[in-house]
Amino acid sequence: MRRKLVVGNWKMNGSLDQNRLLLEALVRHLDEVKQVDIAVCLPYPYLFQAQAILAASDIAWGAQNVATHEGGAYTGEVSAAMLKEFGSTYVIVGHSERNGAYCESDADVASKFAIAKQHGITPIFCVGETLQERESGVMEYAIANQLDAILSVSGGALLDQTVIAYEPVWAIGTNKTATPEQVRAAHSFIRERIAALHPGAAESVRILYGGSVNPRNASQLLSMPDVDGGLIGRCALDADDFERICRAA
Ligand code: PEP
Repeated sequence: MRRKLVVGNWKMNGSLDQNRLLLEALVRHLDEVKQVDIAVCLPYPYLFQAQAILAASDIAWGAQNVATHEGGAYTGEVSAAMLKEFGSTYVIVGHSERNGAYCESDADVASKFAIAKQHGITPIFCVGETLQERESGVMEYAIANQLDAILSVSGGALLDQTVIAYEPVWAIGTNKTATPEQVRAAHSFIRERIAALHPGAAESVRILYGGSVNPRNASQLLSMPDVDGGLIGRCALDADDFERICRAA
């Protein structure tokens, strides 16, 4: 039985003052929500603040990216070991905003996934098709290609206890949510694809839906078969919205 997981992706938002208010509100309102795992992935500089405020709660925290190398002359990068030092449980890898704007390749994402696992951090690996891919009927092909970059290098053991986020690119930040049926179909395709290559891992991998989830659509989307929770962008920046989504899950 997979526990539901709701993760807030704060993206490049926040300040020490805003974060304190938001994190303290989450602790006050969500610490009693025991039936679902909850986490926030925030900008690197605020990991220390998250650790200080969330450590005594059941809310986990993590980052939105990680370096492909262990350390050394990689200006501007942050290693998995550093994330671990600040108590990170999760790290998002392969978010479409990074693939597009920072030219991350499938191979880069596979390395980030593997290095996170080696350091005991759970990668949240994002996959999803563009609008053009959906409209031209190659949605499954596009997702399979993204998945195979991980499945072919990681092996079943590395996949165990990891998280995949299905995030159709056209639904992120757009208010265009995938329909419950589109979400169900994509999630079941992803699980079947994993099962075909690594039957042992398929049942333990949690598959989150992300893309314009809000308090009004959360309960329908997150209760679809094969949906194990959500990756939440904009609504994770509002304590009330995020709380309502977590409770809906
Ligand atoms: C995201 O960026 O991962 C996301 C799902 O954003 P939003 O919820 O704002 O669409």
